[in-house]
Amino acid sequence: MATGYRPVGYSSLSYLLQWSDFKTHAHHLIKNKEDSKTNSKCEHSDNSQDLKTEKDKLRKINCENLNLGCKIRLTEEKMLQHSSICPYKITACPLHYISHVKCPWMGCLSKVIKHLKAFHNEHVEYVSIFLCKSMMNTYKLVIFNGEVFLYYKMVKYGVLYALVRRIGLTSQTYRCVFSLKHHDRCKRESITISTPVLVLDKQLDEIFDSGTCLIIEKQVLHYYMELSEINFWTTIEVHEKD
Ligand SMILES: [Zn+2]
Ligand SMILES: [Zn+2]
Repeated sequence: MATGYRPVGYSSLSYLLQWSDFKTHAHHLIKNKEDSKTNSKCEHSDNSQDLKTEKDKLRKINCENLNLGCKIRLTEEKMLQHSSICPYKITACPLHYISHVKCPWMGCLSKVIKHLKAFHNEHVEYVSIFLCKSMMNTYKLVIFNGEVFLYYKMVKYGVLYALVRRIGLTSQTYRCVFSLKHHDRCKRESITISTPVLVLDKQLDEIFDSGTCLIIEKQVLHYYMELSEINFWTTIEVHEKD
C-alpha cells in the first residue's frame, strides 16, 4: 500500500509544487497584464501627445517680419523656409562685406536690386558666364535668374583668390564653375573647379582667411598668364537637386 501512496504522495507533492509555481506564474501573468494595461494607458497618452504635436504642426504662425509688413502666415516648418527669403527681411548691401567698400545700406531683401542699380550700377552685370582677365582686385554684382551674386577676385603675393556668393533672394541653389584656360589655344590644358554657391553672410576677408574659396598658387597661376593677364572664366549655373 505504501508503495501505492508513494507515487500519490510524490505526485501530490509534485502537484503542490506545481500549484505553487503556477501561483507564482499566475501572479506574473496578472502583473504583466496590469503592466500592459499601464503601458496601454501610456500609449494612449502618447497618442494624444502625437495628436497635439500634429495639431501644432498644422498651426499657422505669423512671419517674424509682420511689423515690417509681411502678412504671410504659414506652418512652423514652412515658415523656416520662408523666413530666409522673406522679402521684408532686413539685409545688408552685398558690398558691406568688402572691407574697402563697406557700403552702409541696410534694407528689405526686396529692395536690394533697386539699391544696387541706383548706387553700384557700374559693377552690375546680367550675364552668368564671364571672363575676368585682370590681375587687379575685381568685384562684380551679377543679377541672374532673380538672384544677386557677388563675385570677388583678388591676387595677393601672386596667389589668386576668388569666390561667388549669393544674397539669397530665392531658395534656388546654384553652382559656380571656375576655369583657367591655357593662353596657348593649341594646348588643351585647363583647370575646372565646380563649387556650390553659398549665401553671403561673412566679411570676405574672413572667408579668404578661412580658405573657403578658390585658391590658385603662384606656380600654377603663372602657367595660365600672358602679358600680366589671366584667362580666368566664371560660370554661375542653376543647381538642380538630385
Ligand atoms: Zn515674411
Ligand atoms: Zn550698397
